[in-house]
Amino acid sequence: MHQNKLFNQTRLRLAAAYGGVMAIILGLSGIGFYRIMAHANWQATQHELEYTTGKLHTALEPVLKQPDQVEARIEKLLPGCCRVGTTCPVSAPPKQRNLLAPVQSSSYYLRLTDRAGRVLVMMGDQPEGKLTHVSLQPWQTIAAPDGNRFLQLTRVLNTQTGKPWGYVQVGRSLQDLDDHLATIRLVLLLGLPLALVAITGASWWLSGLAMQPIYRSYRQIQQFTADAAHELRTPLAAIRATLEATLQEPDLSPTETRNTLQVIERQSNRLAQLVQDLLLLSRMDLQAAAGKHEPCCLNDVIADLTEELTGLALKANVLLTTEIQVDHLLYVLADEGQLYRLIGNLMTNAIQYTLSGGKVWVILSQEDQSAVIQIQDTGIGIAAAEQCRIFDRFYRVNSDRSRQSGGSGLGLAIAQAIARSHQGEIKVQSEPDKGSLFTLRLPLTDSQPVDD
Ligand code: ADP
Repeated sequence: MHQNKLFNQTRLRLAAAYGGVMAIILGLSGIGFYRIMAHANWQATQHELEYTTGKLHTALEPVLKQPDQVEARIEKLLPGCCRVGTTCPVSAPPKQRNLLAPVQSSSYYLRLTDRAGRVLVMMGDQPEGKLTHVSLQPWQTIAAPDGNRFLQLTRVLNTQTGKPWGYVQVGRSLQDLDDHLATIRLVLLLGLPLALVAITGASWWLSGLAMQPIYRSYRQIQQFTADAAHELRTPLAAIRATLEATLQEPDLSPTETRNTLQVIERQSNRLAQLVQDLLLLSRMDLQAAAGKHEPCCLNDVIADLTEELTGLALKANVLLTTEIQVDHLLYVLADEGQLYRLIGNLMTNAIQYTLSGGKVWVILSQEDQSAVIQIQDTGIGIAAAEQCRIFDRFYRVNSDRSRQSGGSGLGLAIAQAIARSHQGEIKVQSEPDKGSLFTLRLPLTDSQPVDD
């Protein structure tokens, strides 16, 4: 297959198409996975921020008295916070195990503003430096000058009496989220090309596997065409040679003319038989030659064929005997013509490949719901290595002998095709110089032919 350009190109195209489709599927899955991860992380960050802000909000509102006024209790609640306009503590606030612990971590910052957005109290590292006025949109994403991003949530604060006091703003660094997503991007960007290399290799191997049966059929068709051409050429060459020789003779006696015509008749009969066999086989391949299946009596078919082939057996000095091992008639559903051809081919072969003085037995028996027809001979036999090939089209073990007897190597191929189209099977057991046994099994039917 590797040497065949057409198959190599097709294999390459198949592998490329498979690799391309897999690349698209993997790429889309990668993008989908990344977006799901990004969304899930974003949601988790938003929930965390909402939770922290909510806790602060709940803790702060009960201590707020006057709108825009920073009470001392607020500073107590937020240890380490810096009131705008006063000197702020330089050192980091002590870590306390209280509800504000997250805000005291380095990734958070906090602001309290008045109702106009003027910053009153700050805590933690402010991404935009020490602003005096801030925007009061509920959700904001802020980019710090050092490239870090922050997510910020703003909520309204009310006094104890329910009057608007100002706003609490809590921001959270998105550094860990961005780092996490960057790692996923890196894994996907490195992993996808690696996976694609593996997939391309696998698809090349798989397309090779998929093409093997196609290549085998292609070779069989090539072989079949060559064999058919060869078989057709032989009788045609014989006809042509006879005609050329005859045409060179100026005066032909009636006997010579008759001989010439007989040769041409013989060869054209051979040609006609060959073409007929080829047609039958191709129709069988297309399952168009199923024919009309009707109950056929195997006892009658065997009796008819034995009578028909007795002349051939006598000529070959072979003793042809029939043994019916059932005391009733066996019927199979079959195309009668094909059934005669099937059993006839096996019996003819047995006679033809048995030396003078040998014997051929045709035995009919029943096994469960199958009719068993055994055709046994004491002939030349078939070597074990050849036994699996004799059913191939145009295959002949001994071509000279087969050609002498008019065989083209299609007899067993046709028999096999007919047996299969009747849900039957043929098996062979043989030993060179001892003989062969062909066993044909066909399913029996209960129905019998309707008398006209
Ligand atoms: P052919 O038309 O040449 O007989 P077949 O397809 O009928 O072709 O048989 C294929 C080959 O199998 C034959 O050429 C022959 O060598 C071998 N063969 C078939 N039947 C027998 C048999 N009963 N004994 C020995 N050889 C056989």
